[in-house]
Amino acid sequence: ARLKPASTITSICGYCATGCQLKIHLDENGQAINLSPQAGYPVNQGMACPKGWQALDPLDAPDRGTTPLLRGADGNLHPIDWPTALDTFVSRFRAIQEAHGHEAAAFLSTGQTPLEEMAFLGCLWKFGMGFLHGDANTRQCMATAVTAYKQSFGFDAPPATYADFEESDVIVLVGSNLCIAHPILWQRIMRNRRSPKIIVIDPRSTETSQAATHHVQLKPKGDLALYYALAHCILRDGRIDPASIARSEGFDKFAEFVKDHTPESAVGKTGLPAEIIEALARDVSEPGKRVSWWWTMGINQSHEGVRAAQAIINLCLITGNIGKPGTGPNSVTGQCNAMGSRLFSNTTSLVGGHDFANADHRRKVAEGLGLPLDCIPKERSLAYDEILAAAERGEIKGLWVVATNPFHSWIDSGRLEALRDKLEFLVVQDMYPTTETARAADLFLPAAGWGEKSGTFINSERRIGTLKPVKKAPGQALSDFRIFRLLANAWGCGRLFEQWTDPESAFKLLRDLTADRPCDITGIESYDHLDQSGGIQWPYPISDCRLKIADSPQETRPADINRQSSISNRPSPERRLFEDGIYYTPSGKARILFSNPAPLPEPPCDDYPFLLLTGRGSSSQWHTQSRTAKSDILRKLAPAAAYIEIHPRDARRLGIASGQQVLIRSSRGEMTATAYLAPTVQPGNVFVPMHYPEVNRLTHPSFDPHSRQPNYKACAVSLTPL
Ligand code: SF4
Repeated sequence: ARLKPASTITSICGYCATGCQLKIHLDENGQAINLSPQAGYPVNQGMACPKGWQALDPLDAPDRGTTPLLRGADGNLHPIDWPTALDTFVSRFRAIQEAHGHEAAAFLSTGQTPLEEMAFLGCLWKFGMGFLHGDANTRQCMATAVTAYKQSFGFDAPPATYADFEESDVIVLVGSNLCIAHPILWQRIMRNRRSPKIIVIDPRSTETSQAATHHVQLKPKGDLALYYALAHCILRDGRIDPASIARSEGFDKFAEFVKDHTPESAVGKTGLPAEIIEALARDVSEPGKRVSWWWTMGINQSHEGVRAAQAIINLCLITGNIGKPGTGPNSVTGQCNAMGSRLFSNTTSLVGGHDFANADHRRKVAEGLGLPLDCIPKERSLAYDEILAAAERGEIKGLWVVATNPFHSWIDSGRLEALRDKLEFLVVQDMYPTTETARAADLFLPAAGWGEKSGTFINSERRIGTLKPVKKAPGQALSDFRIFRLLANAWGCGRLFEQWTDPESAFKLLRDLTADRPCDITGIESYDHLDQSGGIQWPYPISDCRLKIADSPQETRPADINRQSSISNRPSPERRLFEDGIYYTPSGKARILFSNPAPLPEPPCDDYPFLLLTGRGSSSQWHTQSRTAKSDILRKLAPAAAYIEIHPRDARRLGIASGQQVLIRSSRGEMTATAYLAPTVQPGNVFVPMHYPEVNRLTHPSFDPHSRQPNYKACAVSLTPL
């Protein structure tokens, strides 16, 4: 009887950017007692992965933060009340600002909080408190795709809608273990009735490559050489789409560039025979076939990720696989609100899809938010790695970390432990005071989590959906939105944020800021409108509502032409970008961009003869496990202790037996893991899942030069049996 709900309410899942809708079962007091996937939602269509099914578990964890904590003279964290916490925050950051200026502190935030909270944080810190720097952990997952799209299309604009999975003839998954990282999207592929070829390009044999029709097992970071060789074959054989090429710039130079990138010249870099490259080129350029490309971290987390993503974009442009059903160069985002962070976090881009350097944009944002123009800085923030480098140099003295765990997740994480001593003030705002980062804090602020607050997320196909409070946060934990309001008042800038009364009011302010930008969502009336429409994909300008009215057989008056008219109780139509062949660049044409492949930043050597690959290990675990490890069921679905995949031939040579402990060393740190012998990795490569805290002590701090995204996927290590 306890499980029989008194009522139900829908909410978007708070883990990954698939954006599944869940139906939360409530008791008579409106508190969640259970959940199930929501049937009929266009994204997940009644499905959820293990993390979604267990999404309520982390809320009841015994180590939830229930009161603010302050580090005392004894070196330990002690409970304090909220007024003391707010005073401490303000006095310490003010002292840093007065002594060292507005560049001496930064925030590090996340793609896990709702759009309204991440926008409030960025606006409060920069426009209210007057600091300049802050970045989000989307730098670790999506910055490459953002930069690639911006440079190629003129805006951060992923073209796809998930229906494209079901409408493709050839689906190419690049550096993506979709089966476990985005299991519902894999299920969308399984619903494809066109008998598609499913091609996985990945150095590892994964659950996805084993389920695909073809696996192209290239050498790690052989992507760029491979894609240029594919372009070479396609141009040589004339398998191009002249109309699509006419809508792009830079084609002639690109054609000249790839002349030397023959399949034979790519054999060494890719480890693939020339015939395999030739066959793949035919598969991705077959006339009359719809080809879609989908990439995740295997592309993004690379020292040359932006050019690799653009090499995929180029292949789509020259073959005409863009702007049509079942096509596209599509990035699959990582976190539940990574797309929201990309457009609204107010970090390296000005909130709402604007630029800090553009005077018109600054004026528009100031007017839209009711702020004095001089609140808006002209300069963008430092990127994540640049913030940490500035902290290492002693130039950044204060950090405010919100809902992210860089002491585990940042590349070469041992550097953060050393950096801790250089910081004068570290504030961590999180659900748990037990994360690796929270344990190092001077001040801990207890935050409500997913399920305890409202807001919106934007998923990988640009669909905006709502989340709802279905449980009361424990103790004195508050929503991040409420914490930002309290801090605004305590800082003395609360007047600037009077309109930010609750998340929905903030959403409407932010919505209006998007007018005339590619991500224009001025046609969305309210949270109810989003719920009734099955979520809404951007762009959704108010002019779309007017078009609907013009199409309506019913008589309408000018007064009816408002947003309210767009509420229809019908699912909003699937929306793919570039169907008109017009891009967001000044010329309206896409740009074909390319550079020569660069060598690996840290290739294997005599001392460190193996190449370490990292990635997701299980559909039941999420990033640093700060939430998923709270679930008994999810813990049982993934090994608790770190493991390493080693090719049996390498293991034999080193005398490593299955199940044996192995010491893994890089020039930066070491860890132990249990040996798992399998030909899933190629000889000379090893793989360790990213979910274990020690793994990033090994990784090499190299970055894509355009996106500043860390290169998590390839560094040199040695193995010693213990
Ligand atoms: Fe869906 Fe991702 Fe949540 Fe799993 S984690 S239920 S795939 S949104």
